[in-house]
Amino acid sequence: MERIFIKDFPLDALEAWVQSIGERPFRARQIFRHLYNRLIRSWEECSDLSKAFRTQLEYGTHLHAVDPVGTEDAADGTRKFVFRLHDGKHIESVLIPDPPRLTACVSSQVGCALGCRFCLTGTMGWTRNLRTAEIVDQLVHMQQAAGSDRRITNIVFMGMGEPLANEEALLRALRILMDPIGLGFSHRRITVSTVGLVPQMARLGRESPVNLAVSLHAADDDTRNRLMPINRKYPLAALMEACRAYPMPSRKRITFEYILLKDVNDRPEDARRLVKLLSHVRAKVNLIPFNPHPDLPFERPPDERILAFQEILQEAHLTATIRQSRGADIRAACGQLAARMVSS
Ligand code: SAH
Ligand code: SF4
Repeated sequence: MERIFIKDFPLDALEAWVQSIGERPFRARQIFRHLYNRLIRSWEECSDLSKAFRTQLEYGTHLHAVDPVGTEDAADGTRKFVFRLHDGKHIESVLIPDPPRLTACVSSQVGCALGCRFCLTGTMGWTRNLRTAEIVDQLVHMQQAAGSDRRITNIVFMGMGEPLANEEALLRALRILMDPIGLGFSHRRITVSTVGLVPQMARLGRESPVNLAVSLHAADDDTRNRLMPINRKYPLAALMEACRAYPMPSRKRITFEYILLKDVNDRPEDARRLVKLLSHVRAKVNLIPFNPHPDLPFERPPDERILAFQEILQEAHLTATIRQSRGADIRAACGQLAARMVSS
């Protein structure tokens, strides 16, 4: 019999599975607590399960879906984790301390098919989607590494890959992350970042209350077409329509991410166009000064340009923050997760 990945299962599916092997359904809750509350490293630790059941779990399941094979610490406290998957591929995740927050940035795919010109992951191409257990296990391992007195407070799907191109596995992972007896995260503390896959956005909105971030990066179709090939399929009009239709409780807003690229999208007229584009959406803007890399043909704008851009948005009463780059010295900053793929 092929082993199952136990962390693929939200609670209801786990209940069905334990019943299918002749156990009572409440065992699923016990297992869930062991996996996500006690963060067990082996089935041996589950002394409230019978020896026979533990043996069945030992030989019938994969307890771990990712194997931590290395970490790198940046000067600012950011830690990058490299994980090996069962098929020998590698992914990366990042833990970012920003007291009182501790934010985990997780991957959703090995590589990415969407080829945004400014993104290192994008230049490497797509290998495969992650399964639910591989998404969930990144968090389990990072929480183990952080220790019980430092809880991860926020999760962002901003690592390698496009989460909405792997929506089935993502939605199942979100259910486990938000289950009160799973990892217990509030939807307010989880953000899914998308390049703007319009049909998948509608489904996410229907099925999950998490925060949405949209990678916009340009306020006109010509520039966005050049930066992000996906814009030819879902141009700005369609994307903005999907954003306006996105179901949100009244306090929530969509975060629009905007990488500032020198002389490409950082001029005052670009900022004014952005204000206009977002005028009918409940929006906030996160400006991300480009993280340069020798393989990428862009530059970071000078600080005055960045601040001037922010000021135009703020004068128009748009909340606009500037993302501080974290972990750049270990290539853990936005768009820099790709290093290990070469060797996988
Ligand atoms: N595929 C999703 C999520 C992963 S990318 C998306 O694109 O939204 C996470 C964020 O990192 C995105 O906002 C992306 O645009 C940004 N990013 C990619 N390359 C970057 C770079 N070189 N400098 C700064 N941010 C970058
Ligand atoms: Fe993929 Fe996001 Fe990178 Fe674009 S920015 S290539 S969608 S990971």
